[in-house]
Amino acid sequence: MTKPDQNHLDNLKSIAGAGGWSDDPDVLAPHLVEWRDLYQGKTPLLLLPDSSEKVAALVKYCHDNRLPLVPQGGNTGLVGGGLPDDSGNEILISLKRLNKVRLRDPLNQTITVEAGVILADLQAMAEEMDLYFPLSLASEGTCQVGGNISSNAGGVGVLKYGNMRDLVLGLEVVLPDGQLWDGLTGLRKDNTGYDLKQLFIGSEGTLGIVTAATLKLYPRPLNTQTALLAIPSPQAAIELLTLARKMSGDLVTAFEIIPRIGLDFLVRHMDATDPMETAYDWHILMECSSSLDRLHLDLENLFQQIMETAMEQELVLDGVIASSEQQRDNLWALRENLSEVQKFEGGSIKHDISVPVSKIPEFLEKATAAVEQAIPGIRPVPFGHIGDGNIHFNLTQPEGADKAAYLDRWEEVNKIVHDIVHGLDGSISAEHGIGRLKVEELTRYKSPLALDLMRKLKKTLDPANILNPGRIVQND
Ligand SMILES: Cc1cc2nc3c(=O)[nH]c(=O)nc-3n(C[C@H](O)[C@H](O)[C@H](O)COP(=O)(O)OP(=O)(O)OC[C@H]3O[C@@H](n4cnc5c(N)ncnc54)[C@H](O)[C@@H]3O)c2cc1C
Repeated sequence: MTKPDQNHLDNLKSIAGAGGWSDDPDVLAPHLVEWRDLYQGKTPLLLLPDSSEKVAALVKYCHDNRLPLVPQGGNTGLVGGGLPDDSGNEILISLKRLNKVRLRDPLNQTITVEAGVILADLQAMAEEMDLYFPLSLASEGTCQVGGNISSNAGGVGVLKYGNMRDLVLGLEVVLPDGQLWDGLTGLRKDNTGYDLKQLFIGSEGTLGIVTAATLKLYPRPLNTQTALLAIPSPQAAIELLTLARKMSGDLVTAFEIIPRIGLDFLVRHMDATDPMETAYDWHILMECSSSLDRLHLDLENLFQQIMETAMEQELVLDGVIASSEQQRDNLWALRENLSEVQKFEGGSIKHDISVPVSKIPEFLEKATAAVEQAIPGIRPVPFGHIGDGNIHFNLTQPEGADKAAYLDRWEEVNKIVHDIVHGLDGSISAEHGIGRLKVEELTRYKSPLALDLMRKLKKTLDPANILNPGRIVQND
């Protein structure tokens, strides 16, 4: 790989054209740090192309001159994948100016947009078409479609609608040598050989730069019921999920777990109110929704029946059902602020794991006991998408502990937790990907054959190793 010199930078600026680049430190600054402050990047140049052809020309130049290039969307990824490293050699390419709608096709229930469209804007566009785009994450006001695709984002709607992978029908991608692959299609059935788009979804910008996508849309939910439910245990949570899916005709769209300590943090630091009168250990935020309106489906009554049955079976101890949009927003705010609020309690060692839903109680029991034994006083805050088996197993430092000394034990604690996850047939990265953060760990838990296939894929598509080098797999 080559270190870009002034001549390279001038040539790239000239290809990008006016408004298509910046080296102003103030413009660069927000692109070089990430949400958790785990990384500080450095770059000689930020490229800001406004068309796929420009992206292709810039990538071709980098390929021909062996210059490392890092694609960035909304920069909300949590594993350091979309930031240049601190060598100062990696050029950054932001897709944010590629933000047009290419095609609205309401009868095919699809929309084709460019990679830089912000997720919340896409949701709004779908709504204008009287349709629905179901991907929903707390970062939706900032993250972009290209980033969502490249990280195969999950979020709170996976239970019903799947991950981003399940929402993509076609892609347009600039390959690492600068060729532009037009794989945009609105087909739901197409068995003409390998499904090439799947290679790029979840590949974190290591195999190509996504420039546009054709995405599935759904009928808009017109009828929603949301409740915060106190439950006796995680085992009760998964039994409640089975019951609610069955009784509702599979209308459960969100099923999120919130522990006592998380609610305590929210009350302490964010002026939140615990909606229950009694302090319970575990809570589920459950939502059911349907595109049938209230005239055609009495979801309120159905939801009530589920609650009553669950209480009879002692799967639910108490509950608050939202009776207005405001109350619903308040309940969701509890869930959405859970990550943020942990910052006020000192250092937090994070895990983004998944296991089969049936194994969640065993995971929580084993992992909690193991980390408590390793660090007495450690405060586990396990929360998140229990409905699809994904727990954010975040571990807040013991009260009064030294933050830096605690965070120094990050890898040791990760190994304890991830060994348990692996033993339960789980994944060490359910949503956020590998990026730079988990490259080493991936080699510990993936089979040598799987790693070999990944490296071969990378070498085949990007033999010069210019695109996001060192992310996901090291190529020697
Ligand atoms: C508060 C908060 C909550 C979150 N909640 C969730 C959640 O519930 N579920 C979830 O899955 N994630 C979640 N995330 C993580 C993050 O928001 C998602 O991974 C999101 O999809 C990243 O999109 P982005 O546009 O910010 O991508 P970036 O962070 O910019 O990039 C992510 C990766 O994709 C690559 N990339 C970006 N754009 C492109 C492109 N056009 N072509 C090729 N490669 C590209 C980058 O190089 C990088 O490797 C959360 C993050 C925050 C801060």
